[in-house]
Amino acid sequence: PKLERKLGNEDFVELKKERSKDILGPSDPKTVRVRHIASDIIRGIQELFPADGLGDDDAKQGKAAVRSQTGHLDDLQWEVIVIRDNRANACSLGGGKIVVFTGLLNFLETDAEIAAVIAHEAAHAVARHSMELAMLTPPILNELLPFSRRTELEADLIGMMILAAAGFDPRVAPEIHQKRESTVLDDYIGSHPSCKKRSQVLSRGDAMKEAMELYYKQVCSGKGANRRFPYGGKISDTLMSK
Ligand SMILES: [Zn+2]
Repeated sequence: PKLERKLGNEDFVELKKERSKDILGPSDPKTVRVRHIASDIIRGIQELFPADGLGDDDAKQGKAAVRSQTGHLDDLQWEVIVIRDNRANACSLGGGKIVVFTGLLNFLETDAEIAAVIAHEAAHAVARHSMELAMLTPPILNELLPFSRRTELEADLIGMMILAAAGFDPRVAPEIHQKRESTVLDDYIGSHPSCKKRSQVLSRGDAMKEAMELYYKQVCSGKGANRRFPYGGKISDTLMSK
């Protein structure tokens, strides 16, 4: 985990230096929005992979695959930045460093859609994909390195669970890929599994069922992402007390 964090940090520092002119400031509305969404996603990760041991039903909930390696989650130092760049893209540098391009924010519309992409990038950090990548290739910062097709699908699935745990409707995840497929402007083409394939994997009965169950559980316990909407909580509290 230390090496992973070190590599992620080094790449991140380098990237920030290279693109310093294009990094949006912390008070830019786009940065504020993205960081707000990211903090929900990080909370989702903490709920999905609690530090204080996992319960018996966790295996059933698809956490088994990563449970043996979640110790490193405490070491992740999350930082999310927004860079002025027309490409509809985002990337994960390892160690919890995530970069979102303004092109992606122009392409996507809702908070849930942005959340789905951040959850996917965060899932790469959770699954420690950057280490696999670091073993294979030296860091190249001018290009966004695509992960392998296998790790992309893995991050899609873990990301969808994180999205649900953060209280966002997981059905948005496959929708984004459909949306991507229907646009000519797709920076992912070639480097990623086909959008159709990704959408299909996510919509598959068992994966989506698991994510939807988690999502409903979060919504019912007041952890839905729309809790932020004004009066949302108040209305239901009023109804409850009657
Ligand atoms: Zn990815």
